[in-house]
Order: sequence, then structure tokens, then C-alpha cells
Amino acid sequence: MAVKIFVDFDGTITTHDVGNLFFREFGGEACDTFIADYHQEKISAQECFRREAATAGGILPNDLNALLDRQTIDPGFKDFVDFCRLRDLEFHIVSDGLDYYIERVLRAHGIQNVSYVANALSLEPAGANGRQSFSLTFPHSDSVCDRCACCKRNFMLTHSGDDDIIVFIGEGYSDRCPVQYADIVFAKEDLQHFCQRENISYYLYVSFHDVTDRLGRLLARRQLRKRRRAELKRKEAFQRET
Ligand SMILES: [Mg+2]
Repeated sequence: MAVKIFVDFDGTITTHDVGNLFFREFGGEACDTFIADYHQEKISAQECFRREAATAGGILPNDLNALLDRQTIDPGFKDFVDFCRLRDLEFHIVSDGLDYYIERVLRAHGIQNVSYVANALSLEPAGANGRQSFSLTFPHSDSVCDRCACCKRNFMLTHSGDDDIIVFIGEGYSDRCPVQYADIVFAKEDLQHFCQRENISYYLYVSFHDVTDRLGRLLARRQLRKRRRAELKRKEAFQRET
């Protein structure tokens, strides 16, 4: 048995939702409408991203990077990374955001060599004055479900085995699906309400200090157990695949 930890990025590791800020800064209020349409299931996650990227138009990379370099992260996240490394606990960042800002923000806070999965952003020349436009690809989408552009569930299931205990830490909309497949859930904000509605047991946390404390205690007391409903959901997902 191994413990596998999966962590959301926007609003969980970072203090704010960087993805939303990222497009809103350059695309303006129209981006709020796209996100609302996405949450109301009028458009897919990929379509939402495409509209946001198109609305943002040509940007100057320096402006973009300056915005990213102002982002703050959870005060306990670095200690949490050290905690996992010290105990040889495998952990991955699973994000429906963009690789570009995940790498930039982590690097700015001195965090390196962390595994992550996300959507891919590159910048391409767009007109004069060094302006660039956003080019997006979605290498980790699910073939059936369009609710997320990067399928956290698929990544989680392919990176864990039958005997593993899956830990998930998150806060928002794109975490609603993967928590249903996780044994141990750390939730706050929107995700906390979702877990309450769906009767998914969870640990409430404010910062990663809480997560580290709780996980440390659960490990010391050997109290990490599988959650029966999560196990059944995982089995169902594999049966549908075959
Ligand atoms: Mg989030």
C-alpha cells in the first residue's frame, strides 16, 4: 500500500484563482460571462478557454509575467512539499489551469521538480511591438466528459493502483469530480459544500499547515483507510474503460 497525494493548484496552492485573473486581466469582463456559461454547462471547459484566449488578444509577455510574479501561495505549501519528500510520499499537482503559470508561480516561490498535469499554453507572435497571443492545447482531456479540459480523475486513476490510498486536496469546481474517487479528502470553500451535499467525508482545512498536521497524525496512527464509495467509483470507472 502506498499513499498517493493529488493537489489542486488554483485557489488551493495559490491564494487566488490565477487562471481567472490571468484571462480577466487581458480579456476583461467578457471572461466572467464565459466562466458563468461554463458553470451553467452551456459551453465546455475547452470552449471557455478558447473564448477567453481569443478575447485576451495580443498581450505583452512582460505584463503577463509581472501579473504572475505578484501571485502569492498558501503559507504552508512549501512545508507540505518538504513533508511529502521527507516521507517519500508521492504527490502530483492536478490542475484544470495552464502549465505556463503553474511553472512560473512555483519557480517564483522556490519550488522545483514537482510533478504536475495541466492544460498547455504557449505564446505566439501576434502583430507588432512584441505582442503575443495565447495558443492552447488540451493533452489530458477525457474522450467523453467535457466538464474539465484536463481530466483530474483519469490522471489520478492511472497514477494509482488497487492497493493505494488516494488523498485529494482541493477547493473548487474542477475538484468535484476527482474527490468522488479519493479515499481521504481535504476540502474548503466550494468543495466543502459539495462534499457536504454529496455525503463525502472530508477534513476541513484553512492552510496546508492543517493538511500536514492531519496527514502526519493519520500516518503515525496508521489511520489512512480506503473509502468504500470511492473504491466502488474507481471500479466502475475501470469497468467502463474495458
Ligand atoms: Mg482550484
